[in-house]
Amino acid sequence: MTHPGATPSDKHKVVVIGSGFGGLNAAQKLKRADVDIKLIAKTTHHLFQPLLYQVATGIISEGEIAPPTRVILRKQDNCQVLLGEVTNIDLASKTVDSILLGHTYRTPYDTLIVAAGAGQSYFGNDQFAEWAPGMKTIDDALELRGRILGAFEQAERSSDPVRREKLLTFVVVGAGPTGVEMAGQIAELADHTLRGAFRHIDSTRARVILLDAAPAVLPPMGEKLGKKAQDRLEKLGVEIQLNAMVTDVDRNGITVKRPDGTIDRIECATKVWSAGVSASPLGKIIADQSDAEIDRAGRVKVLPDLSIPGHPDVFVVGDMAFVDGVPGMAQGAIQGAKYVANVIKSELKGADPAAREPFSYFDKGSMATVSRFSAVAKIGKIEFAGFFAWLAWLFLHLVYLVGFRTKIATMLSWITTFLGRGRGQLTITEQQAYARTTIEQLQATVEDEKAAS
Ligand SMILES: Cc1cc2nc3c(=O)[nH]c(=O)nc-3n(C[C@H](O)[C@H](O)[C@H](O)COP(=O)(O)OP(=O)(O)OC[C@H]3O[C@@H](n4cnc5c(N)ncnc54)[C@H](O)[C@@H]3O)c2cc1C
Repeated sequence: MTHPGATPSDKHKVVVIGSGFGGLNAAQKLKRADVDIKLIAKTTHHLFQPLLYQVATGIISEGEIAPPTRVILRKQDNCQVLLGEVTNIDLASKTVDSILLGHTYRTPYDTLIVAAGAGQSYFGNDQFAEWAPGMKTIDDALELRGRILGAFEQAERSSDPVRREKLLTFVVVGAGPTGVEMAGQIAELADHTLRGAFRHIDSTRARVILLDAAPAVLPPMGEKLGKKAQDRLEKLGVEIQLNAMVTDVDRNGITVKRPDGTIDRIECATKVWSAGVSASPLGKIIADQSDAEIDRAGRVKVLPDLSIPGHPDVFVVGDMAFVDGVPGMAQGAIQGAKYVANVIKSELKGADPAAREPFSYFDKGSMATVSRFSAVAKIGKIEFAGFFAWLAWLFLHLVYLVGFRTKIATMLSWITTFLGRGRGQLTITEQQAYARTTIEQLQATVEDEKAAS
């Protein structure tokens, strides 16, 4: 059954899909506009994805990087936050359908901003996800924390040396920023935080492998910084395997094809997937109803004003949009969202939609941490690595975290982790470690029952 949307209003209706960098910034930039905004997102929080790896490795808590969206927007009277997963966009009737616990709600719009981001891509091998979770959501990060710490716990109880070795082998697939950060932090967790905490195993002997089908670490940051990151990781004891194509993933390990065609097997209990992205399926829904095209990653090829062909009132921003020269990074989403909000505001004041200035992206650079006290950074033509890059990384991430309380809590967590060896968030619950499997089993049972009836 479809329920009508909430309270109708005479004001210009802006629907924003997503509460990530794109969605939140679009809504906030429209704060003083005479519009009625409905922000629909499938999570109750605004997620700061760049620090997910610190949740997965026990440095900070999920609350520090995921404040509730409705609390952030509490003082913005023209915006209503609605929880629900958008399942359909109808460009002809200008409505959006979203589902919350089996109920479908229909929300009309005058202007639509789609900022539903991207998920993990397994390059057509979605079955890998069961054994190699990605790192896109709080659920992913908490589950990975459960798997990583759970592997050490099981190793402590195991008397079989082969099984112990498998449990103490951690493989991170994908040597981009997330993969580098994860591998570095698992190595530091094993070497530093957990050192001496077990009696039967030596956590410092854990094997951390970072592998990628590409020939370099951090390819977008260039050869010099990639090499610096690689050297630093190797100093931490991380094994780097490049030109290694993953061909299979199962409960007990992964299978890898080398450039000479040989096939290798790595026995490992914990696998992390950080190798590719696939834009929200809402992109295809939009493309199917318009002349918009999508690229191989499912991103919508938008016009220079970030709208889609034939629909100047529908904008796609952030990771869901393909714009030449704009990377799939927070700044791409933030700047795109602010540009669209400005377009809406000026057209409400009478500007001609046919005369829109094209969106232009200002590259503020990119950074990745490798370990404590070490990061790599590229700002324009300037490249630097090491301690100062790390300080710059800390500072910038604090600036972009939403909320004063969150900034303070994160800073305190960093002080205890980076100056001492403690991590305040090493708790794992049965629910975190097993929830995904349980939910998948339940879904499989429901599907079996449907098929049988
Ligand atoms: C682990 C990780 C580390 C990263 N590190 C960095 C970094 O260091 N620096 C950097 O600049 N960038 C980094 N990025 C990239 C950056 O986070 C993204 O580019 C940015 O989040 C894109 O913003 P967005 O608004 O397009 O999408 P997102 O921030 O992903 O937001 C998408 C929103 O849409 C919602 N949504 C999705 N589907 C639906 C649906 N069907 N219905 C309703 N709501 C929906 C989601 O719940 C979410 O609220 C990282 C990304 C990841 C995953």
